[in-house]
Amino acid sequence: MLVEGAILDIDGPRPAYSRFRNGRLVETGALGTDSTRGRDRKVRGIVIPSPVNSHTHLGDAVSVREPPHEPVSRLVKPPHGYKFRLLAESSDAAKRRAIRSSLQRMVREGIAATVDFREEGRPGVELFRRAAQKIPLRTVILGRPTARPVDPVELARILSITDGIGLSSARDEAKGDREVIARACHRVGKRYALHASEAVRERPEDFLDPRPDLVVHLAKASTDDLRTVRDADVSVVVCPRSNALFGRQPDLATMERLGLQVLLGTDNAMFHAPSIWRELEFAYVSTRLRRRPVSAAFLARSVLVEPWRWLGNPERARIAPGTPARPLILRLPPQDPAYQVVTRMTEHLIVRGSPRDTASSEE
Ligand SMILES: [Zn+2]
Repeated sequence: MLVEGAILDIDGPRPAYSRFRNGRLVETGALGTDSTRGRDRKVRGIVIPSPVNSHTHLGDAVSVREPPHEPVSRLVKPPHGYKFRLLAESSDAAKRRAIRSSLQRMVREGIAATVDFREEGRPGVELFRRAAQKIPLRTVILGRPTARPVDPVELARILSITDGIGLSSARDEAKGDREVIARACHRVGKRYALHASEAVRERPEDFLDPRPDLVVHLAKASTDDLRTVRDADVSVVVCPRSNALFGRQPDLATMERLGLQVLLGTDNAMFHAPSIWRELEFAYVSTRLRRRPVSAAFLARSVLVEPWRWLGNPERARIAPGTPARPLILRLPPQDPAYQVVTRMTEHLIVRGSPRDTASSEE
């Protein structure tokens, strides 16, 4: 198959052709220079690396009703907020089914990886792992110990089966516990992450000490706070739909201007479907609505490029023969590729027979 149009990847957008044989990318180049001599099936479109959803709580998908209209601090506050009561009251089988169907939906949407904050201690992580069995999507799980003060034995047992730890926030956790957790994560080469400045502003000197590998939200951060986060070289995940539900918006325009490393996530699955395409469109439109616009290129990078860098696999964001990227072929006009991907993409536009379609497991 010959895709004529554009490539959008770690090197930016460019007019190009991409040639696939047996589901593998074998050739790319300037339009009109391919070697097929008209023999291959032709598709007009854009080729991109598979995106990443950089922040989910898929266990929350067990919720099947409209959540109460309460402040987010009350809804998702551990251990007795609405969300945690719901998780505690739901059976393991129901949670497993909910997580599995969310992951299957993400696969249909072409997502290659998700970074999930999994609560409920080691059993919560085990439940997720069972739900994710044989699903061709990389699940990066950041677990959460239940005992406070932190029990080093529980922490070690969680870290042995996760990619790291994801905490509620610096406000909800004693500094001593955060230090124990960050140290334990880094000792075994795993990641320590937490939410920050979601409902109220928190001081960077609090949430950046100990230094996290990732902070989520920063909806209430000042420009100075954002500068501090950038200078600390800490990546940020923003979740604009989740924030909007509670009347907030991360200052994406300033994040772009200052050059922060920004990733995009869909947050609690009880509030929003884990669709990165819907998140992208909302992120773009909502910044225009507030007259604080960001570029489509910045948002495209937040799902196609920055997460792969954060995961230590930048080559997965490069469309070229021989890279580990799993290209998606999108039936979209190739002009302004980032704008097309950010504002118009739905799963129906993925060309079936894309390499992503035939991938059966994550290496
Ligand atoms: Zn979250």
